[in-house]
Amino acid sequence: MSEVLLRAENVVKSYPILGGVFNQEVASVKAVQGVSFELNRGETLGLVGESGCGKSTLGRCLIRLQELTSGRVFFNGRDITHLKGNELRELRRKMQIIFQDPYGSLNPRMTVNEILEEPLIIHKLGLTEKDRNDRVRELLNLVGLRPESLQRYPHEFSGGQRQRLGIARALAVSPELIICDEPVSALDVSVQAQVINLLMDLQQKLGLTYIFIAHDLKVVEHVSARVAVMYLGKIVEIAKSEDIYRTPQHPYTKALLSAIPIPDPRAKENRIILSGDVPSPVNPPKGCHFHTRCPIAQDKCRIDGPELKEVKPEHWASCHLASSEGL
Ligand code: SF4
Repeated sequence: MSEVLLRAENVVKSYPILGGVFNQEVASVKAVQGVSFELNRGETLGLVGESGCGKSTLGRCLIRLQELTSGRVFFNGRDITHLKGNELRELRRKMQIIFQDPYGSLNPRMTVNEILEEPLIIHKLGLTEKDRNDRVRELLNLVGLRPESLQRYPHEFSGGQRQRLGIARALAVSPELIICDEPVSALDVSVQAQVINLLMDLQQKLGLTYIFIAHDLKVVEHVSARVAVMYLGKIVEIAKSEDIYRTPQHPYTKALLSAIPIPDPRAKENRIILSGDVPSPVNPPKGCHFHTRCPIAQDKCRIDGPELKEVKPEHWASCHLASSEGL
């Protein structure tokens, strides 16, 4: 039986908007609106949605880089929602994040050696200088960089190599879970595949668990055992990867899938073009949040918000029209 590593229970994150004479809260940005799911050890969950749908905020809440407004997060069966001090520091060692822009997250004044040594010092891993040197070399080897890189600075590397450095830094503290926040979005297509393959190899070698955040379904297709699709702060569909790609249940997932470029000109006929922009998370639409753009919306959709329901075994979708027979 699979072991649950992470469990999110009704996670909510909103940001107050202050205004008025007394600088009071006048509204709030509802970035994440009640997200629940489980993640098994060794699994990769793809988290997909358009920019601003709350996926990165959710990722940061799960590893306590941001405080939750409400809800709970469990890691290894332990409630970590309110951990503080040493307990939070120890937790951070087990949960790391890789960012989209490795250059922005690597200190340009530090050499590679210093960058990789820093987390070992902060977390008191590698007591002697020799231990740390050995570990830094091991990390470089793990991500396919040469030992000569040690005295170089981040600007001396290509985008793909910098992302390898970001991965090495995340691995330094031997984490169990890594949030990969759009790790290949800023890279050339040819380099994207190399970084994705590296992440998959490392998962095999080190038994890592990933949440892989991306804005399109194409990127997560080959890395994810399951995929969760987010829209305006909510998961609207979550299922095994093959079920999401073969039998999507939610109209939004269908639209995202139809946007994946494939070299068949006839495919253009099946493309679903969503009208309008994503509504503001300050004032999301009533009823189903997707009704303002849904091509099959009905009157009911403008009034009642659908629950996330299991339409087929292990396949959940929040749409009034979703059923085991499909839309
Ligand atoms: Fe579209 Fe209605 Fe389903 Fe929402 S509930 S996705 S508006 S059909």
